[in-house]
Amino acid sequence: MADRPLPRDGIALLAGYHSPQVDVPVRLNTNESPEPPPAAFAEAVARAVRDVAWNRYPDRAATGLRARIGALHGVGPEWVFAANGSNEVLQTLCLTYGGEGRTAVTFEPTYALHAHIARLTGTAVVEAERADDFTVDLVEAERVLGDAAPDITFLCSPNNPTGVVEAEATVRTVLERAPGIVVLDEAYGQFAPWSGLTLVADDVALVVTRTYSKTWSMAAARLGYLIGPPWLVAELDKVVLPYHLDALKQAAGIAALEHAAAMEERVARIVEERARLAAELAELPVDVWPSGANFVLLRPQALDGAAVWSGLLERGVLVRDCSSWPRLAGCLRVTVGTRAEDDAFLAALSEVLE
Ligand code: PMP
Repeated sequence: MADRPLPRDGIALLAGYHSPQVDVPVRLNTNESPEPPPAAFAEAVARAVRDVAWNRYPDRAATGLRARIGALHGVGPEWVFAANGSNEVLQTLCLTYGGEGRTAVTFEPTYALHAHIARLTGTAVVEAERADDFTVDLVEAERVLGDAAPDITFLCSPNNPTGVVEAEATVRTVLERAPGIVVLDEAYGQFAPWSGLTLVADDVALVVTRTYSKTWSMAAARLGYLIGPPWLVAELDKVVLPYHLDALKQAAGIAALEHAAAMEERVARIVEERARLAAELAELPVDVWPSGANFVLLRPQALDGAAVWSGLLERGVLVRDCSSWPRLAGCLRVTVGTRAEDDAFLAALSEVLE
């Protein structure tokens, strides 16, 4: 081969998205649920494996799953779009409302995949700056929404990796000013005191995205969805690949919803444990941001964040190293784990900081 064929413009220069995985006893780096789903859920999935008509394509529209998710949120199936993780939901949104000649706005720092997926789909990205407390700054929002006139505006509440919950008034203002669609990423919505789901309406260009990966303890399954107006969901249905959701995943997604009470207990436990973790961190020489999610952002005051990350790893604790990310110098993000995992993290952190 004389020359290696090149990917299309923009791809060659793009860095891939990485989240390093290391096999250690305490993994608090990817905001997963520390508990597996209830045993009854696993049994229901085992039954579903037996019952799947494996020689047939699955229900293409995932009607049953959409109806059940819709029922959970008090809307019909036509308000629900489901895909392989909320990442695929975001990708489908970008393929549908972004693309060449179109623009997306993000408020940085935020979930890196918003800008990354937008760029992968050929969408130009304009990065707006958050206020010092990491909330969306309304003056900056009005400026950027006016200047960039984005086709897609990404909000994230609670925001990853800061954990900060956006005020409802902020989301409402962005909705009024954004000329295109607004994507409110609520991957961590269940851990927060309020949800933008109440703002979804037929005459509002808002979608709220959710995932089974966190609350539903199903990161392995790759299932996410959005709630949005039916006219918008209908456009997404044109874009996503046929039969993108396999039959087993649809069954697993339905089975999980039978265990809503168990899931709510898990959320309550994590929210309680988050408060304990934050209180313990407040006793250490680290800055901590208030979190409405299942993780906490912190910054060691005297030591280099990357050095602290390595010190934790040497003690068998893996957290997310954000210390070299733009606007997050020195920061680390720790997922709320079980009490035992968090104790191991706190003990290791105290040692490293000494
Ligand atoms: N949005 C945010 C803000 C996230 O943090 C994540 C997971 N890290 C996702 C979306 C994607 O979640 P999934 O694809 O597992 O549904």
